[in-house]
Amino acid sequence: MAAWRSLVLTLFPEMFPGPLGQSLAGKALDKGLWALDVLDIRDFARDKHRSVDDTPFGGGAGMVMRPDVVDAALGAAQETWARRAREDEGGSGGEAPVLYLSPRGRLLTQDRVRELAAGPGVTVLCGRYEGVDERVLEARDVQEVSVGDYILSGGETAALVLMDAVIRLLPGVMGNEASPGEESFGADAFEGLLEYPLYTRPAEWQGRKVPEVLSSGHHEKIRLWRQAQAEEITKRRRPDLWARYRKDKP
Ligand code: SAH
Repeated sequence: MAAWRSLVLTLFPEMFPGPLGQSLAGKALDKGLWALDVLDIRDFARDKHRSVDDTPFGGGAGMVMRPDVVDAALGAAQETWARRAREDEGGSGGEAPVLYLSPRGRLLTQDRVRELAAGPGVTVLCGRYEGVDERVLEARDVQEVSVGDYILSGGETAALVLMDAVIRLLPGVMGNEASPGEESFGADAFEGLLEYPLYTRPAEWQGRKVPEVLSSGHHEKIRLWRQAQAEEITKRRRPDLWARYRKDKP
């Protein structure tokens, strides 16, 4: 099967793979468990100054990324996908969504991350300045995705967050196949809860002891303790998640 593929459109191509070239994601990239293409949006500027942005109609601060330039870049992305599908034996199957990282987008959740990991890949458009002309987002059926209710200076770091979350779920990427499931937002017994507290050696540190039950060797007691802790932490820190958990689990 063809690898999960990411195609990034950015004005700062040297930011990729960036941190995703390190550690588990980096090793997985070297092994071909996921693939990356980066297109420099500036290569699709048409004038001699290679300008990609202009002032906003209606006035106001900042600059807006031009629809013609972004459209040409998205067209090239589509061609790159077609070429990769011919190269990858059997193709990747299915069309990858075009995502624009944007604070106006649907908030990224672990469910969405799982969905993306199960698909053929993503094309991600990284905005800069005030953002992208609305018309090209409509014309190209772009889905907006936000990584949180705060404003970044550009879409690149948001794209890296999204890709990191997806890549660690791809088959063979995590050394320990069991670990992606059993953590905050994972799909298992603790689904929908924040993670219980973690401890490692030394058993006593600065006068603080590890909870006794964890050294008891009693798996059922440990499971129950972790479940109780996870519920307590979720209740206290994230009443929104707790309410949803209670609703889903009658
Ligand atoms: N004028 C915009 C902010 C633009 S920030 C507004 O007020 O909503 C510049 C770029 O950073 C955006 O085009 C987007 O690609 C990216 N960006 C900023 N915050 C983001 C977030 N929370 N999630 C995803 N992308 C974000």
